Amino acid sequence: MRILVSGASVAGPVLAYWLTRHGFEVTVVERAPVLRKTGGHAVDLFRPAMNISEKMGVLPRVEERATGTSRMTVHQEGARRPVRVNLSKIFSAASDRHVEIMRDDLSEIYYDATRDDVEYVFDDSISAISPDGEVRFENAAPRRFDLVVGADGLHSNVRRLVFGEESRFSAFVGAYLGVLTLPNVFELDGELLIHVGVGRTAGMYGARHLGDARVLFLFRSERELDHHHHDVPRQKELLRGAFDGMHPDVDRWLDELDRTPAFYFDSITQLHMDTWSRGRVTLVGDAGYSPGPAVGGSTSLAVVGAYVLAGELARAGGDHERAFPAYERAMAEHVRGSHAAALSAAKTLIPTSRLGVRGLAQGARLISALPAGAGRALLRLTTGSARLYNSITVDDYPPPPAASRVGLGAE
Ligand SMILES: Cc1cc2nc3c(=O)[nH]c(=O)nc-3n(C[C@H](O)[C@H](O)[C@H](O)COP(=O)(O)OP(=O)(O)OC[C@H]3O[C@@H](n4cnc5c(N)ncnc54)[C@H](O)[C@@H]3O)c2cc1C
Repeated sequence: MRILVSGASVAGPVLAYWLTRHGFEVTVVERAPVLRKTGGHAVDLFRPAMNISEKMGVLPRVEERATGTSRMTVHQEGARRPVRVNLSKIFSAASDRHVEIMRDDLSEIYYDATRDDVEYVFDDSISAISPDGEVRFENAAPRRFDLVVGADGLHSNVRRLVFGEESRFSAFVGAYLGVLTLPNVFELDGELLIHVGVGRTAGMYGARHLGDARVLFLFRSERELDHHHHDVPRQKELLRGAFDGMHPDVDRWLDELDRTPAFYFDSITQLHMDTWSRGRVTLVGDAGYSPGPAVGGSTSLAVVGAYVLAGELARAGGDHERAFPAYERAMAEHVRGSHAAALSAAKTLIPTSRLGVRGLAQGARLISALPAGAGRALLRLTTGSARLYNSITVDDYPPPPAASRVGLGAE
């Protein structure tokens, strides 16, 4: 049985890994010419995603590539003294198993775990999918697949082709984000330096093995701003406007906007779909249920979703009419929870008042100062994310022994 997956970032390779282990034949098509290795940002793997990575045998590499961010210095706009926070303690209060890793490192690790068994086609994109499984590509010749899965992110191409325009499913969270790659001008190693004010937060982090650093900008906007997806100069102008006069550190970061080798700007939107599946096509990860970039644990959700989808397809012997609804049922509660947690995280991360600004810094300091158990209790009370990500339970979908996989794989 042949399955086509669109997107080779996180959900795509994890799905490809487990589908292959269950005996399916997998092709992954990725729009980028090569696996992305520039830019990117730090993402979180919480316990369930760590467990899945362990079953894939890649956990040692994941842990080796962890960003190692363990300290945070918070400058509150208008306050004289920064607040220093032990981030490791917050992470351990949030989850008993957690790693922060650069998204590009993670996707390389998952890709390496699949490259020998999966056909990867880079520099191409699906242009049409017919109900009988005939797929057309922008470059390659048409091919027929039994199933197609969109793992192509928040602005999914597969979703647009099968379900229609993104605007039908996206809900603006009232904020924007920008990411800038720049030289590690403050020589940060294991430290996150953030500036937080009413309606705006900017933070810089580096990691030992990165060689450069990233700045994440988050700012509020009541209405959606007038800019085109490809109009980078306008996006940079919006960012400069939003962070004007915040702090000399932030000015220094904004100066890099003209020199940066990698820049990303987007609205923070959530995806709300009644179903992620239609006919032979389904969606996984951000493509189907993004809770919003930078405000939720969407990477963990993508890993869990990919594992569950592959498992349900195997359980149903490849019958997508049974497997897709089972996959949606298994994920629905996690998705709902992640959407709610992301909204509350957005409020905390980009405060709407001076009280919120103080609350972010002091709350983080308090949790990091408490003994682990008490810190965990406080974090549970103050954020939904910790509760959610610690409580996600995932069925076990053990793959068959290698010899019996052939039955499903061969046509
Ligand atoms: C700035 C930023 C900060 C973030 N911070 C965090 C965080 O702190 N914690 C966290 O857990 N998550 C975070 N996220 C979210 C996280 O990156 C995603 O949830 C995660 O990468 C989802 O993986 P995915 O595989 O579903 O989609 P993506 O990682 O978006 O990958 C989609 C893939 O599909 C490819 N693609 C796109 N279009 C096509 C096409 N037409 N044809 C073929 N391929 C295509 C893309 O090139 C890409 O490789 C952040 C996201 C952003 C943007």
